[in-house]
Amino acid sequence: MKKWRCSVCGYIHKGDGPPDKCPVCGADKSKFIEVVEEEKVQKQEVGAEQKEEAIRREVSIEEPEVVSKYGKIYNIITSQMVKHHAHPVSVHIPNGVLPVSVIFMIIGIMFDMDGLKNAAFYNLFFVVLSMPLVLFSGYIDWKTKYKGEMTTSFLIKMLCGSIVLFLSIFLFIWQWINPILLTPESNKGIFIVLNLIMLGAAGTAGFFGGKLVFNREA
Ligand code: FE
Repeated sequence: MKKWRCSVCGYIHKGDGPPDKCPVCGADKSKFIEVVEEEKVQKQEVGAEQKEEAIRREVSIEEPEVVSKYGKIYNIITSQMVKHHAHPVSVHIPNGVLPVSVIFMIIGIMFDMDGLKNAAFYNLFFVVLSMPLVLFSGYIDWKTKYKGEMTTSFLIKMLCGSIVLFLSIFLFIWQWINPILLTPESNKGIFIVLNLIMLGAAGTAGFFGGKLVFNREA
């Protein structure tokens, strides 16, 4: 049986032909490379590179790549972020703290416990603080590990990330200006619904992230 690798996420499919869509990242058929063929192509590519290198040395046309000082710093920081898994590490903050915030909020409202309502607010603040790192490290991972390919999985992850970013900031500012949770007579319906949407978006992004990391082999 032949083996096909998704060139975007690395998922391996076994069968006579590639699947119509990658079940992990959503890339289409054209992104699949037959594993044996790929090895041959790689060998050919290495051979071609060596020839090119030899020609370069002969005529000494080698030009150093010009990268600005800030470009170099950016490259060092981003490569270290990818190497040390900055995205999966940082994403634990919204994925771990958001449910705490939403659950505290609901219990706080149910039993009228101001301590829990305050805890929900400060937990949400911590989520807001974490979002720039979460989104930036996710973008860097996508660019480097997945070649910046825009497939269904990445589109959903980016959409969910944007929803969490927008709603966390919005709900934080809302509570800051108007302490809705601490005002007994205020209608909390929309506030609770937006919190649940934010939690759902964080969970969905986490689900697709988990798929990309753990579902590589068929
Ligand atoms: Fe894939």
